Amino acid sequence: MNQSRAALAAIATLIPLAMIATVQTGRPALQDRQEQEKITVVASFYPLYEFASRVVGDRAEVSSLVPAGVEPHDWEPTAEDVSRGRAADVLVINGAGFERWADDIEAKVVANTSEGIEFNYKEGREVGEDEHRHGDASGGGGVNNPHIWLDPILAKHQIDKIRNMMASSDPVNADYYNQNADRFTAELDSLDAFIRSELADCDKSDFIAFHDAFTYFSERYGLRQHSIQGASPEGEILPQTMQQIIELANEFDINIIYSEDLIDSRLADTIANEIPEGKVLVLSPIEGIDKGEQAAGIGYIDKMKQNIANLKEGLECR
Ligand SMILES: [Zn+2]
Repeated sequence: MNQSRAALAAIATLIPLAMIATVQTGRPALQDRQEQEKITVVASFYPLYEFASRVVGDRAEVSSLVPAGVEPHDWEPTAEDVSRGRAADVLVINGAGFERWADDIEAKVVANTSEGIEFNYKEGREVGEDEHRHGDASGGGGVNNPHIWLDPILAKHQIDKIRNMMASSDPVNADYYNQNADRFTAELDSLDAFIRSELADCDKSDFIAFHDAFTYFSERYGLRQHSIQGASPEGEILPQTMQQIIELANEFDINIIYSEDLIDSRLADTIANEIPEGKVLVLSPIEGIDKGEQAAGIGYIDKMKQNIANLKEGLECR
């Protein structure tokens, strides 16, 4: 009795499953397919996640490999991250050697957003840089500076790479992707104009960033970046390097030392304490964004404007 009831119950559960299966074997209408089978985009880390999200809008599912609020320089993917990247229709990366693990993903389609950009290249290695060096294929032991996204004009190039890859991967929605990309590009042009006007009248052009994230930004806006950490924000700092930074600050009459939002500010605090009227402000490399900021809708443009406000104070702009 019990056995036959169990058998009946099993058959009862099989019937709806079988019905669903036959429905799904038929090819859904085009509109249903757009609803059901959104193209999946996996971005490597924060700015690429936002750039990709702005271009694809609601026509694709975007996720980030590096979790929100995690410093991406030394991040390594887990086996699960590798599978997620491999399963995605498009993998969006910064390139320039930032994602040393990108080849291991063996993604179906890669949108390398820095392709075609002439990189700032640094010969040789710095002390302690071995584990942090951004791999490059030149074999010369040097490193490409990967921080192109902090220059709004180069960010536009990245947007174009994403829009082109999306238009070819999902041609049905190409017009939509192009319109979104145009809108974000216009915001980047406004940001560029904003930065030029904000930094038009400053007493100083030298500043001390936490790591070399503002190289392209500085080239764009006629500034001179010095830095505490070099290529990556993480790693040990030698006492003589700290002494050099203090001397540099004195030489250029700099009293603001920039820290970052995703790192411990104690090192910047220590240096600032050794400088007359020393003070620490944040200059975000926008390499990640914390969950609170993300929930509040704060993104790239807002973070850039916060950076400009803090930079204006350091550069003594009017
Ligand atoms: Zn960096």
